[in-house]
Amino acid sequence: MPLKFRRAQTGDLLFCDDSGGFFRAGESFLERYVDGRLNDNDSQFLRKNGHAFDQIGDLGFHAFGYRWAQRLHAPTNLDYVILVPTLRCNLACSYCQVSRVNESAPGHDWDTATLNATIEWLDSLSTQKIKIEFQGGEPMLRLDVLNAVRSFARRRFTKAEFVVCTNLQNIGDDGWEFLSSDDTFVSTSLDPTMDLHERHRTGSKTATSQFAANLRNAMAICPERVSALPTFDIDTLPDPMAVIDTYSFHGLRSIYLRPVNHQGFARKRFRTRDVGATWNAYVRRFVMAMVEYNSTSGAPVEEFYFSHCLRRVLRSGHDGHLDLRNPNLVGISYLVIDHDGSFYPTDEARMMSRLGQIDLRMGNVHDGLDPSVVEVLNSEALNIFDADCVHCPYQAFCGVDLIDDLSRYGRIDLPRHQTDFCRRHMGIFDLVFELLYSKDEKVQKSVCLWAGLERVEPELVKVHA
Ligand code: SF4
Repeated sequence: MPLKFRRAQTGDLLFCDDSGGFFRAGESFLERYVDGRLNDNDSQFLRKNGHAFDQIGDLGFHAFGYRWAQRLHAPTNLDYVILVPTLRCNLACSYCQVSRVNESAPGHDWDTATLNATIEWLDSLSTQKIKIEFQGGEPMLRLDVLNAVRSFARRRFTKAEFVVCTNLQNIGDDGWEFLSSDDTFVSTSLDPTMDLHERHRTGSKTATSQFAANLRNAMAICPERVSALPTFDIDTLPDPMAVIDTYSFHGLRSIYLRPVNHQGFARKRFRTRDVGATWNAYVRRFVMAMVEYNSTSGAPVEEFYFSHCLRRVLRSGHDGHLDLRNPNLVGISYLVIDHDGSFYPTDEARMMSRLGQIDLRMGNVHDGLDPSVVEVLNSEALNIFDADCVHCPYQAFCGVDLIDDLSRYGRIDLPRHQTDFCRRHMGIFDLVFELLYSKDEKVQKSVCLWAGLERVEPELVKVHA
């Protein structure tokens, strides 16, 4: 099977095949491979490790085909819905990624007709299990809508889960009652340090204390159902240990590093383009700080996206993250319903439409779905035939994000290596393999924690002599 290769920091070469199999070898193997002069030892190694077969139809051939197919994401029924019952918000964060309006602004909420039409539409879905995410604005400002949708979904579906993306700024007794249910998860924003949180989000000591108290309360009620996300300004990146301390202090063990998104209001105020090299260097610094921290801490931490990429390298089937799939078809297994009842394929597509970049609406809850716009996009939503990706050893683990490409460049056909998506993923997969092959015990401890392994077995990190 074809092998793609890339030089590792150690000087060795990493070889990967299309099904996600990989090994390291030296320059002499590459020369023999390219010249068609593989020796018996090479052939035996490739066959034994599933990178080669003797003839079409034999066990090695079919096993490779099976592993290759397992690497592809097959979208299921529509079973994940993001609802935006209001654009109103009680904060005005400087790097707000969504299109929010003031808390008192009229005309930016679902009306009764939209609520009823949404419930009717949910009722028409064929799935028996559903995940519903409430976004905004601040969705807790429309607790009445959240309650109506949740009550309906609990009756209608065999299994229903709810995520509330809330700033946790003002939560009353009825709000806490809503959030305390076992089927309801809280996703909030917690900036890298409390100082930054105050500067960019809350704006005052009183409001910061109120948020901190609410976060403590949420963690006390349901620690396993709370997640928090920081946002990083690429020009003022904090010391990683300060961020780890902030999150550990609140009992949060998973930190998802995200630079200010090239979306919504945020892109107007912060540098969000051509940040790949700076960001990759920071991610590396951060992950290495976590390795050091985990070497002595009894409560280890992880960087969410690095761990996700690590798991994608080691196993197929890690397709739960919407930003990293291949193919990454939009408008099929999940949808967004905006404050005016419009359907969008993703939350980012909603923001782009609001900024007037491109209209990616797919109809609305009153008149029905019209997928014609995204069908055009979906014809390009896989990396298998991409002229750059076909040469890249990371192709089996990587994916595509056409909405991000559209947002940054206004087009989806830029040579892949010129995109922010590619540069970031090239950096993160380089780091994944560097750590996987590291002999440093501290590194191996963290890799095992993040990947769910007992130890890094030699068969996992093969080297062909
Ligand atoms: S997007 Fe970049 S890193 Fe990902 S497979 Fe394509 S070339 Fe490789």
